[in-house]
Amino acid sequence: MAMVFSKRIRALLVCLVLSAFCLNAEERALITHYPAIVTAEQGGPLITVLCYHHVDCAVKTEYSVTSAQLSEQIDALQAAGFSFIDSRALEDFFVQGKPIPVKSVLITFDDGNYDVFRSGYPLLKKRGIPFTFFVYPKAVDEGHAKHGVDWDDLREMAANGVTIGSHTMTHPFLTKPPETIKDRKEYDVWLENEIANSRVAIETQLKRPVTELAIPFGAFDAYIRQKAIEAGYTMVFNVNGVNSDVRADRWNMNRIIVKASMPIKQFLEEATAPPLVFSSTQPSALARVNSETTDVTFILDDAEAYDESTVQSHVTSFEGLELQHIKDTDFFVETVDLRRPAFYEVYVTAKDRVGRLCRGAWLFIYEKETPTPIVP
Ligand SMILES: [Zn+2]
Repeated sequence: MAMVFSKRIRALLVCLVLSAFCLNAEERALITHYPAIVTAEQGGPLITVLCYHHVDCAVKTEYSVTSAQLSEQIDALQAAGFSFIDSRALEDFFVQGKPIPVKSVLITFDDGNYDVFRSGYPLLKKRGIPFTFFVYPKAVDEGHAKHGVDWDDLREMAANGVTIGSHTMTHPFLTKPPETIKDRKEYDVWLENEIANSRVAIETQLKRPVTELAIPFGAFDAYIRQKAIEAGYTMVFNVNGVNSDVRADRWNMNRIIVKASMPIKQFLEEATAPPLVFSSTQPSALARVNSETTDVTFILDDAEAYDESTVQSHVTSFEGLELQHIKDTDFFVETVDLRRPAFYEVYVTAKDRVGRLCRGAWLFIYEKETPTPIVP
């Protein structure tokens, strides 16, 4: 059944691709028209969103890059033909269809650490590179005492072109409310505080609109995504570790977390890898499943653009648990033993017809219990 379905979808896709407007994006600095399907071979636009946390932090962690690393990464991306865009350009691209460069990269920082204000901001300002700073009011209220930025720091950055986004109110796992939350109604109130009220709190302090939300730990589900839409956000960001193009879901935008241990070669490979996009997946992106075993399947959008013999995929959990590889079959299906409740990421790579390694991913959640009253 799955095979038949997959072939039908593929046949349909081929028809769509053949009838799609043919765009030679590589030859233009800006794309001015978007076909319904932009193939990997057509070249773009490739959208890379990088997620940093610290710059020159006194405490060395995986999440703290040095100024030298940040500069080297910017140089490498510029040498590879990338243009640095701001959040507004990305929103206008998705919402209004305004053009962005064929290779676009957006820099973001999460958590509101003071070293970003002290080291990252001046470096990027000097180079004329925009960025988005995702902060959560609980930390900003504590400010310098907890090595975070305060509202004055944010006002200064915002006045100088930095976009300030919400990273919720208190930075919790949004799918795991405190135990005091007993039912769905209380859960909704709690979510509204994290998602909607955080936005209002930042807007009130900065007197500027806040239109973007970065999900703490990238851990959310379709219900939370919907709450973010209802709260008025234009874009929501995950940390799935892959890139995007015009086919992206703007309320589930991919970002790559940049780690201190990443050699520049690996950084460049990941930041410049074209995306794999799925025309269908099972489980669907941000779905909740409640069975210990589940079929994981996917169909690549624009499947003809890829060499099927190079398709590889595996499932990992947030805790780093590596599961069995999904066999490379005609329709990419494998039953996966989920082992324990967690967020699971399905990660897929394939080479396109011109030999570029493309990467795609989606997230789903396994909840062991029958959904509790608070779980949608
Ligand atoms: Zn965070």
